Amino acid sequence: MPSQFMKSLDKTEEGKLKVFLRICHVSPILEYCKIGSTRKSVAVAYWQRRGRENLEILENLVRLRHKFARVLGYSNYADYAIEPRMAKSPSKVFEFLEEVSDNLSDLATTELNFLKELKLKEEGDTFFGMEDLLYYIRRAEELHFNLDMAEVRQYFPVNVVLSGIFKILQDIFGLKFKEVKNIEIWDETVNLYAVLDLSSKELLGYVYLDMFSRQGKFAHTCVLSLQNGCSSSKGIQQLPVTLLISHFPKQIDECPALLRFSDVISLFHEFSHVVHHICNRATFSRFSGLHVEGDFVEIPSHLLENWCYENISLKLMSGFHKDITKSITNEMCKSLKKKRDLFSGLKLKQEILTCLFDQIIHSSDNIDIVELLRHLHPKIMLGIPLLDGTNPASFLPRSAICYDATCYSQLWSEVFAADIFVTKFQDDLLNQHAGLQFRNKVLAAGGSKEPLDILSDYLGRKPSIQSFIQIKAKNSLPVPELK
Ligand SMILES: [Zn+2]
Repeated sequence: MPSQFMKSLDKTEEGKLKVFLRICHVSPILEYCKIGSTRKSVAVAYWQRRGRENLEILENLVRLRHKFARVLGYSNYADYAIEPRMAKSPSKVFEFLEEVSDNLSDLATTELNFLKELKLKEEGDTFFGMEDLLYYIRRAEELHFNLDMAEVRQYFPVNVVLSGIFKILQDIFGLKFKEVKNIEIWDETVNLYAVLDLSSKELLGYVYLDMFSRQGKFAHTCVLSLQNGCSSSKGIQQLPVTLLISHFPKQIDECPALLRFSDVISLFHEFSHVVHHICNRATFSRFSGLHVEGDFVEIPSHLLENWCYENISLKLMSGFHKDITKSITNEMCKSLKKKRDLFSGLKLKQEILTCLFDQIIHSSDNIDIVELLRHLHPKIMLGIPLLDGTNPASFLPRSAICYDATCYSQLWSEVFAADIFVTKFQDDLLNQHAGLQFRNKVLAAGGSKEPLDILSDYLGRKPSIQSFIQIKAKNSLPVPELK
């Protein structure tokens, strides 16, 4: 283990090091510990923690959800939860997940074979378990790129990132962000921007940026609607007003606030919600702002995240903090993309496992949850068995609590965003024609039209999963030969 981690651990009276079953201890061990048996015992303990109590809670939650859905006339909870979403029915969700999973199998198998070979060379052991996945993915990443994220951060002062985002949104969507000064505001670090149409100069709406952390502030990073846009029967337009909340460190003296790369992605992601809110031209407030269907709302944000991995846009958003004329290097841009894409097949298989588990328990009654995960795990994870004693309530917490029956939605949005990116922007990242069409056909409709019709109209055909599969297949394969 890295010595810094060892130093951070508390000691027992006998001088042994204490490891707590918290993610801040477990993650580094699963990623860095060279001894397979240690990784395994930590993984087993972590995925069993508070198992019996949490399992009972999960089983009870699922039972209650089914019960309440039946009161409303649905045959199960998933039918109720998915009906108002883009997918419409659990059968469509199963079809989607199985199609993506099947299409990723060859890619994930190649990736897994690469990792198995790596393990054979390092530990002389051919059995590959769940405790090996994070460790060998990290080892393989070391063979493919050398990326110091602390160094990358030096290139992202918050003001440079922000002006880059404004420039990109202007180039793609024809939107002009103009700061409004001397206004009454709830904190001196908050800024207000008017958003104008670049060519007509028409005022489209306003956005407040409350980006820096302070005590007592709402703790999530998100975009909220302060006023939805709509038009009255007399044709008077009410302008949309939105608020972006994030939690970046404030500028201290001469040192500018530097964003981690994950913060850059998160800021860009949230800005797409701002753009969606401002460009939504639905007549009624009910369909305006961010009132769009659940599976649809994240598609624009996943689409825009793609710009965070391309040279041209990364250079617009970056500048070394001591000399902002020096933008991020080509090598760093390449490595950031590689880091995102490498082993996508295996990472996505894990996500699909969670989504399927969530969908199955919410689609039928009286499922043996423990048995289900034991059966499903090797089926999806290319034969890798579930570690003995793993408890579903500890292993897959997201599905249990927050995303009941809608875990699939994240992947769903990514897949259709990839289709838009490849079809319209991949070869011309600042294609304003495609951007304006996206603004007028996809964003402007808001929640007033069927999302599938909106996307089909924009793409000129029904959306498909193939672009997503092709991107993953092209970018995520490890180099075949090991030295
Ligand atoms: Zn989002």
